[in-house]
Parts: sequence; C-alpha cells; structure tokens
Amino acid sequence: MAPSSTPARPTARPRKARGEGQWALGHREPLNPNERIKKDDNPLNVRARIENIYAHTGFASIDPQDLRGRFRWWGLYTQRKAGIDGGRTAVLEPHELEDEYFMLRVRIDGGALNLAQLRTVAQISQEFARDSADITDRQNIQLHWIRVEDMPEIWRRLDAVGLQTTEACGDCPRIVLGSPVAGVAVDEVIDPTPAIDQIIERFIGDPRYSNLPRKFKSSISWLVDTPYEINDISFLGVEHPVHGPGFDLWVGGGLSTNPRLAERLGVWVPLEEIPDVWEGVVGIFRDYGYRRLRNRARLKFLLADWGVAKFREILEKEYLNRALVDGPPPELPERPIDHIGVHKQRDGRNYVGAAPVVGRSSGTQLAGLAHVAEAHGSDRVRLTPYQKLLVLDVADDRVESLIAGLREIGLEARASAWRRGTMACTGIEYCKLAIVETKARGEELVARLEERLKDFDTDISIHLNGCPNACARTQVADIGLKGQLVMNAHGEQVEGFQVHLGGALGMAKGDSAGFGRKVRGLKTTAEELPGYVERLAVNYLADRSSAEETFA
Ligand code: SF4
Repeated sequence: MAPSSTPARPTARPRKARGEGQWALGHREPLNPNERIKKDDNPLNVRARIENIYAHTGFASIDPQDLRGRFRWWGLYTQRKAGIDGGRTAVLEPHELEDEYFMLRVRIDGGALNLAQLRTVAQISQEFARDSADITDRQNIQLHWIRVEDMPEIWRRLDAVGLQTTEACGDCPRIVLGSPVAGVAVDEVIDPTPAIDQIIERFIGDPRYSNLPRKFKSSISWLVDTPYEINDISFLGVEHPVHGPGFDLWVGGGLSTNPRLAERLGVWVPLEEIPDVWEGVVGIFRDYGYRRLRNRARLKFLLADWGVAKFREILEKEYLNRALVDGPPPELPERPIDHIGVHKQRDGRNYVGAAPVVGRSSGTQLAGLAHVAEAHGSDRVRLTPYQKLLVLDVADDRVESLIAGLREIGLEARASAWRRGTMACTGIEYCKLAIVETKARGEELVARLEERLKDFDTDISIHLNGCPNACARTQVADIGLKGQLVMNAHGEQVEGFQVHLGGALGMAKGDSAGFGRKVRGLKTTAEELPGYVERLAVNYLADRSSAEETFA
C-alpha cells in the first residue's frame, strides 16, 4: 500500500480533567449560581436582614438571592401560588410560581417537644400561619402562609422556648433525626440524646459548616426506628464484644432522583465521640464534596467514587488524627418500628403513639394535643419520622382516657394499617416543584381503604410524592408513588403516579433491602389511585404466599 500523503494529525492534547469544584483540591471559585450566593454572603447573615430590613419593607423589597437562596438557611421557602397546575411547574420561572407567603420549617431535633414548645408552635400556627401545621417525615413541623413581616415575632416566640429554624433548610446540617422513644424505651441500651444536643449546640449555626455543597442529613438512634440508611450520616446502636455498647457508623445514603443506601464504615463509636466523628464527616463533605453540579453534590456521590475504605482512611487521617475501632454490624428488626399504640416505658409508665392522616395537623390540633397530654400528666410529646406523634409518661390508669381524648381531636392510637402506613409529602398545595397533589389524595386514599378493607391486618407502607424528588421516600415503600403527569383513558394528560413496588429499608427485609421496582408502564392516574391500591391489597389478601410478587 502506498504511503499516505495525508499529514499526520497533531496528537490531541490530553484533556484536563474537569474539577468537581472540591474545595480541598483548590476549587474555591463558585461554579454555579448557588455556590455564588453562598460565597457572596454567608446565608446565616440573612436573619439580621429579615429582622432589620425586610420585615419592615415587605416582600417586594427582598433581594432575589436572599429570597430564593439564603432564606432557606432560616427555614423559609417561598410558597407555591395557588391555582398553578402541575403541567406548568417546569415551564414557569421561579417568581411566576411563588406567592408572597412562605413555608416555615421549625426544626425539632430528635422529634422532642415539651408542652410549652408545642403550645408555642400551635399559637404561631393559629396567629400567623392560617392554622396550618404539617408533621414531616423528618420530625419537623412545617407551617405555611407565613409573612416576612411576622418573622421577628415568630423567632422571638420560638427562641423563648428553645426552638429554632436555624439551618432547617439550605446547604447545611439539617435536623438530626432521633428515636422518638430515646430515654424511655425498654430495649434502648444507650440514650444518644446528649450527642444530638451537643451537635446542635456546637455546630448548628456555626459558619464553618454553613456552606456545604448541599444538604446534610443526620440520624442518631440506638433503636432502628429512624430511616437510617437514607441519611448522609447515621449512628445506630450496637454491642461490641469487647468495648460494649456504642454506635455503628453509616455514611452516604440519600434518595431523590439518584437513590443510594448508606454504607457501614465498619467502625464502633462510643457515645461521647459521636459529635467529633459527626464533625469529621461533615468536614469531609464540606471540603471534598462536589460543588460543580447540584445533582451530584450530595455525599453519596463522593462515597460512590471513593469507596468505604478510602472514606474511612481520610476521616481517620485528615479529620480525627487517629484510628477508629473496628465494629460489628447492628442487629436489624424485621419491620420498621412506628410506635403507634400503647407501649411500656422502662420506668413502668406508658407511651402512646397516635396517627394523624398523612402528617396533616393544624395549630388547633396541636393545641388540643397539648391540652390532652397535660390533662393526663404528661409534659412530653415526640414526633416520628413517619409523620406520627407520641405522648410520653402516661400512667396505666390514664391510658384509655388519653386515647379517647386524642381521638376527639383527630389523632388515632388504634389506627388502621392504612393510616399507620401512609405518608405524603407537601405536594402541589404549597410546593413549587410539585407536579401533583398529595396530602388531600393521601387522606382520600386512607379513608377509602379504611372503609373498603377494614380488616387488612398487615403492615404496609404507601408513600405519596408530588414529584421525582422523593421527599416522602418513594423508593423505600411497599407502594411508592412518584407524582407525574400521565395519560388517562381519553388520551388527556392528567395528574398521576409512577408506581414503585416492594421497596424497603434494611430493617424491613434484611439482606434484600433495596429500592422498589419501578415497573415500566406501571402508572395510575390520581383519580384511579384508590381503586388501584385496593386491587393490589385484595390480590395480596387473596394469596398471601404471593406477597413477594405483589410487593416485591
Ligand atoms: Fe415538593 Fe417534590 Fe418534595 Fe413533594 S417530593 S415536597 S412535590 S419537592
């Protein structure tokens, strides 16, 4: 073959690897608008502007970077304007989707409230939030219809009872989940509440940790009664054969559109070291977390790239300056523990778990709850990560009267499987990202199933989500529902759900823990949802041996 006369192409210069915006590798210049907002001014500073300026000058005067960025660090999101259908969510500009009111998230770390705190939230709801109050699946309470003008007074009242909205949202350490029965459970060996308290005291509102790549979710519990595998960091109680009781460390979990279960680092952490280890993991996230793309900015992506061994090595060498103790895995129960019903405390009294429907409450109901609890000798209420609540410290002879009192205000301690197992995110009523309505549909679904399948006696979880973001944990429910637009029988685009079946957390299904199968083509319109779920349940009841096929 004749030699080619074509001149040889210059060798392509090796392409420089694109950085992920990791601070530890020298990328300090903001790579996207969110990073710019955080660099220009620490979002924690916005509270002073709200109190001193915006509360007096009103909604229209708020700097857009504060409004849609920094306000979140104080628990404030703009609320969706009423009447905008889900089809327009993706096409409208943020300012076209929002009205002049806010959602306010009150962080209730560990879900623990005394009655003075509960009454304060109830009063704020009644006076400033049109009586709205939702219990979230992260043990927060969300209020709606909040005006910026009222924030100074709201904070004054919350501060007075030791509650806060600091870092309730935003790229920072969010609420720390904790067992709703910490300190009272019969089978709890160590109450980790002091570690949660220390973390809040030392690190929440600390500017060193207020600019993370994205949100950072934590869970600390002896019992397996929080969804520990879907947090950025979790500590779970474990007995070490040599060192005794302590905590097993998990990192890198999270759902949203790229779900990933947390992984064990294989270490045993004593109670008193939890805050330092927590700080080390947050430090890794701050310094090495990806900041270029928002959808790759959670800790789970870093863990996926590094692997567990490297993550542990960096934590030990660069952040703790010591080796951690190897530890065994914890024992996991068969099913999640939701604490509904009457249970003995270790001091001989009882706690009573009761269910609102899909977490929907109100200031009136919370005030009623405070009244009923007090009348039965309790000063302590706890919220659960399943949108439920508990009244602690009830004497044996007061239990039945308490249950009746709770029922009168719409809280059911002897709840049906449907009411116990159904959760719903905020949805289109208030959320700017929503495509479908969730809360009202959840209530309607529970009512229909309670009426039609009264005797259904199996634990079941049904999670309704208004969009793919999975705030109510689409992928880890027996029946996970992801809001989207679907075609109805007449070829019209209507609100509906993509169905995921058979999801579970490790606690529920042992080694087969995992995400629900998104079955291609398995969709239902919102209108047909109750009938659809009913058919699934009837099939299951007809042949329990096919349960695995039904929900797995
Ligand atoms: Fe909003 Fe979507 Fe989260 Fe529901 S899942 S609260 S609709 S972002």
